[in-house]
Amino acid sequence: MQRERVADDIYVFTSELYAQVTAGAIITPEGSILIDTLVFPEEARAIRSFLETRLNCPVRYVINTHYHADHTYGTCFFDGAQVVSHIRCYDLLETRGQDGLRLAQQSTPELRDIEIVLPHMVFESGTMSIHLGNKTVELWHSPGHSPDAIVCLVKEDRVLFASDTLMPVPYFVDGSYNDLILSLNALRNGGYENVVQGHGEVILRGEVEEKIQGDLEYLEIIRSHVEKAIRKGKTLHDLNHISIESCGKSRIPLNGLVQELHRANLYTLYQEIQGQAIQEPRLV
Ligand SMILES: [Zn+2]
Repeated sequence: MQRERVADDIYVFTSELYAQVTAGAIITPEGSILIDTLVFPEEARAIRSFLETRLNCPVRYVINTHYHADHTYGTCFFDGAQVVSHIRCYDLLETRGQDGLRLAQQSTPELRDIEIVLPHMVFESGTMSIHLGNKTVELWHSPGHSPDAIVCLVKEDRVLFASDTLMPVPYFVDGSYNDLILSLNALRNGGYENVVQGHGEVILRGEVEEKIQGDLEYLEIIRSHVEKAIRKGKTLHDLNHISIESCGKSRIPLNGLVQELHRANLYTLYQEIQGQAIQEPRLV
């Protein structure tokens, strides 16, 4: 796991075990706020040991930015913390989260100690603020990647934890294409110092607007590709010819996983426009 400091009191942890998923910690004199908890027990325990033993800063709040395993499985290692999420995250953890964990534990023995923790505090609309020590973290709903996704802004530092609303390629197969466009637009002109993506590298101030613009363009381009394919009577399989580069994104990030995400985006959009049932998505 990599650790970097993006502001005096803000750390980002990036997994080396799964898809460069990120977690973040905000340090205050009253304890810390942890945003997401990675997947594997050894990573969550390493975060806890860094914050609580090395910095002497117990974790008071854990924010689950959405219910996907790669963002929530470590939550059970922070007993004593109040867990916060969007109301839909609670429902999805209780249903799909529990079912997914049972399946994952069958194939991945390292996950045997994981338990789903249902959030203690939820919000539904507008914003929710957490005040701890000298920091304020503002949360708001940002659906699209998943129905329950939220983003978190550390107001004093203007550091945004965008979760999977921003990742190397926009990914909406478990959410909604249209919602993701709205949520990306809502992040424009936010004056952020740094933006922590749910996966991959931290985006610096000067690159944020370009990144959001590029993501919106990608979504527009794939839509026009898919619509054209449908007009020409192409099958789902024919979409494999639409390369990620032709839609304005690189195939390199996340060790190439982005190509798989891109293909799933194309399939989902094709099936959505055709009014077909969507196949079971890969959750990232
Ligand atoms: Zn993710």
